[in-house]
Amino acid sequence: MKKIKVELGENSYEIRVGSGMMERIGLWLREKDFSGKAVIITDSNVGPLYASVLERSLANASFKVTVLEVPAGEEQKSLETAGSLYNKLAAAYTERTSLVLALGGGVVGDLAGFVAATYMRGVPLIQVPTTLLAMVDSSVGGKTAVDHGQLKNIIGAFYQPKFVIADIDTLKTLPREELSNGMAEVIKLAAIRDRGFFEFLEKNMEQAMALHAGTLEEIVVKNAAYKAEIVGKDEKESGQRIILNYGHTIGHAIEAVSNFKIKHGQAVAMGMIEENKIAGRLGMLRESDAERIEEVIKIAGLPTKIPNLSTEDKEKVLEAVKHDKKVLNDRVRFILLKAIGNAVISDRVEPELIGEVLFGWGKT
Ligand code: ADP
Ligand code: ZN
Repeated sequence: MKKIKVELGENSYEIRVGSGMMERIGLWLREKDFSGKAVIITDSNVGPLYASVLERSLANASFKVTVLEVPAGEEQKSLETAGSLYNKLAAAYTERTSLVLALGGGVVGDLAGFVAATYMRGVPLIQVPTTLLAMVDSSVGGKTAVDHGQLKNIIGAFYQPKFVIADIDTLKTLPREELSNGMAEVIKLAAIRDRGFFEFLEKNMEQAMALHAGTLEEIVVKNAAYKAEIVGKDEKESGQRIILNYGHTIGHAIEAVSNFKIKHGQAVAMGMIEENKIAGRLGMLRESDAERIEEVIKIAGLPTKIPNLSTEDKEKVLEAVKHDKKVLNDRVRFILLKAIGNAVISDRVEPELIGEVLFGWGKT
């Protein structure tokens, strides 16, 4: 088991990564001086698999446990579901010191995190991520949110967990597509800041996709540590943290235009490849580096090409890119690679170049 500290002053917390963790969570929480009630929030896929081990672990450590299960799916990230969870927390006489444990992927993490952040102005939150994506990305950093209408993650709060516990064993039941989805963020992090780790991925991606526990543990530890470091320097996403958006400017646009039928990781994979082409066109990134990234993306079971889109959808993609949340003084800021392991923020990308690279527009 490995421990990683996220340094945020009085909001600091620890991430633990390893195998067979679920059974020990109760004791660890006692060691951290938590006691009393604990509410596990999970979904209908994860609950049947892991809620009972977690429940037992907590009960053995004398917690009084309630399990709340919501149907699986992004639609549950809503104020309505949050509302029904508040009712259930009230019915369980949840107190200011009661724990909320988010057991599941990013959807559960965001939803339960939002509920924990807002119920009684905040009750202690423990993240127990069960998808690779949640382990390497969403469970670290303190972002919580629900969707509203068509707008994703539009209502939320920065709210740091007290503890993140990533049990690698849970990845064994994860659908393969979801494993790929998380791997996109792993490749992203290596590409923006660590050539050595990228080389590790080139050597070990096949093993990781075959669920080799040691390899997965190493990947999660490395990623969680990086994310922790970046979040520690920039809790509210103002400066450095923006480089985590490599692949995301175009990725988000594609994801949105597909009405979220294309998963986040798949869209980010496409985004990284297209943004590399842009970096190539600006004379920043060597073709051989771009090819290496594409190769790892392929082995991770991720798509390398954007799907065929209607002209209308293509226009929507460009429009979405223009309204990316990283826009500053009306200039879209891209995170571009100069080389594997070296990312920079660039506002030199003209809209015409984006249309040309993505859709071959304007070429004669
Ligand atoms: P993320 O945002 O982390 O990709 P989601 O919360 O959308 O994750 O989870 C993706 C899907 O995988 C959901 O259907 C969820 O119920 C399911 N899931 C999450 N963790 C596991 C697991 N360890 N085993 C099996 N299914 C899981
Ligand atoms: Zn992402």
